[in-house]
Amino acid sequence: PFGSGKTVTQQQLAKWADADIVVYIGCGERGNEMTEVLTEFPFLDDPKTGNPLMDRTVLIANTSNMPVAAREACVYTGITIAEYYRDQGYDVALMADSTSRWAEAMREISGRLEEMPGEEGYPAYLASRLAQFYERAGRVETIGSEPHVASISVVGAVSPPGGDLSEPVTQNTLRICKVFWALDASLADKRHFPSIDWLQSYSLYVDSIEGWWAENVAEDWRSIRDQAMGLLQKESELQEIVQLVGPDALPETDQATLETTRMLREDFLQQNAFDDVDTYCAPSKQYQMLKTILLFYKESLAAVNRGAPIATIAALPVKEDIGKMKYIPQDEFDAKIADIQAAVVKQCSEA
Ligand code: ADP
Ligand code: MG
Repeated sequence: PFGSGKTVTQQQLAKWADADIVVYIGCGERGNEMTEVLTEFPFLDDPKTGNPLMDRTVLIANTSNMPVAAREACVYTGITIAEYYRDQGYDVALMADSTSRWAEAMREISGRLEEMPGEEGYPAYLASRLAQFYERAGRVETIGSEPHVASISVVGAVSPPGGDLSEPVTQNTLRICKVFWALDASLADKRHFPSIDWLQSYSLYVDSIEGWWAENVAEDWRSIRDQAMGLLQKESELQEIVQLVGPDALPETDQATLETTRMLREDFLQQNAFDDVDTYCAPSKQYQMLKTILLFYKESLAAVNRGAPIATIAALPVKEDIGKMKYIPQDEFDAKIADIQAAVVKQCSEA
């Protein structure tokens, strides 16, 4: 929905994605968003090379006041430029904001051509056009004089009117894409950013990336990720009970679970795009943050089982340190996180 953070999320990906080239397509959205990229990126450094981020960025602007026929072209221009760089052996990330505006352009052109309309007035070939666009993403072996492995990753924003996910553009996109981030208006209203709904969103690539995490970050990444997801699912079940009978009716162990899941939501999932440190989080830092919260879960549960009152657990000073973890700069992180983890064990055992 409008204002849920699609543009900020895509701009963040453009800044921080581990890609050689970024193609950013502003398709039918407000012009000032393109201006923002244009004025901001020359002053940001590419973390890989130290050069201005603009040097590796291609902008394609087709804002809401420009003709619809050109809007159709801008998506194809973007993906073709992405392929051009991919064929030279680069990893390219392409952002399209938003594909709904593109679909609306297709609808208008199809209407003027007096074609038979399909669902909600979109042309009958909407699904195949979307598929033809997304299928150009992927990893390839180039066949030039020097073989390279290169890739295009496509991130498309879909903005269904009224946030209604059952409309044709969303449904057809979901059928094609294997990763879905559901940006939720109620989370955005609560200023929980990025407003990615953790239960509705999914990736069908978890099995494929598990090996990378195990090799480059930590062996147990998959198991702690699954544990955290399980806790968040459990939270939504517990919250239904809380709404009926109030939090005090829950057993103390469940209350300890809710303490942990609040940390997962507020201290781990929330990330402020406008904070100098929090704007980017390295994989190793993410892993350690999650690990620390789950350590708190284990230790606090043990304390509750030993008879420690939940109010004491909820008031432990280390919780504040966990809340500030994300603001610790990368170069100080390793030393400080060890102290926090030690404090978790110490304070829970004394509770
Ligand atoms: P959309 O493109 O979905 O209409 P925007 O991306 O423009 O929405 O986001 C609307 C506002 O939400 C932004 O101006 C910003 O204040 C806030 N916002 C979105 N994402 C974040 C984030 N990750 N961190 C902080 N604020 C955010
Ligand atoms: Mg936007």
